[in-house]
Amino acid sequence: MMRRKLIAGNWKMNGSLAANAALLAEIKAGIGRSESDCDVTVCVPTPYLAQCQSALVDTALVLGAQDVSAHASGAYTGEVAASMLLDFDCKYVIVGHSERRAYHGETSQVVAQKALSALRAGLTPIVCVGETLAQREAGQTEAVVAEQLDAVLGLLDVSALKKIVVAYEPVWAIGTGKTATPQMAQDVHAALRSRLAIKDGESAAVVKILYGGSMKPDNAVELLAMPDIDGGLIGGAALKAADFLSIVAAA
Ligand code: PEP
Repeated sequence: MMRRKLIAGNWKMNGSLAANAALLAEIKAGIGRSESDCDVTVCVPTPYLAQCQSALVDTALVLGAQDVSAHASGAYTGEVAASMLLDFDCKYVIVGHSERRAYHGETSQVVAQKALSALRAGLTPIVCVGETLAQREAGQTEAVVAEQLDAVLGLLDVSALKKIVVAYEPVWAIGTGKTATPQMAQDVHAALRSRLAIKDGESAAVVKILYGGSMKPDNAVELLAMPDIDGGLIGGAALKAADFLSIVAAA
């Protein structure tokens, strides 16, 4: 099964009008307008969606966001609805990033509701799962990511299943410079794909499972060569055009 790779930049809470313009100009110059062999998205802070939407017109890059409300509209001060992201031509939205689970108390149930609200609006949720170091050392990795994924799968019809992207991001590897070895990542990706297959084998074969956690130009080739690693969710290296482009080239 050949799955087209996806490289997703997660800018997190970084950037400014000036810095974004410079970064996107460099990335665009490096990627060109032509269809490449992989899909590339940048998930930007909400206030910059309009800026980035304009900057990405007529490019091979697509726009993404970093979070979405579980609700469609209404009295939810500070939240951003999926329909609003769609207004800015977003295609992807990250849900359940470990920073949101850790600092904003997002449970797997909330993350699942967010994924559902993204799907209902026609966005592709990038559902993040991953264990902490303590959980890995306690041998709980597969159980933790299975619980996180199952919460989402439990809310979706089989027909919606193939429309999600999953990102495996071991918490201990995010922003730390420590990366899972390709085999460690592959083992978890294979476990996640089996979990998807319990629900629907056909979808399990097409759903992209990205790896995230200190993916850099010097480890991207090895990681992306693993059979169940279908791309990357890139934090730090997505803020440096040369690094991001070299990861795209690896894919
Ligand atoms: C992330 O936060 O999604 C991530 C993978 O960050 P980094 O690449 O900086 O580890």
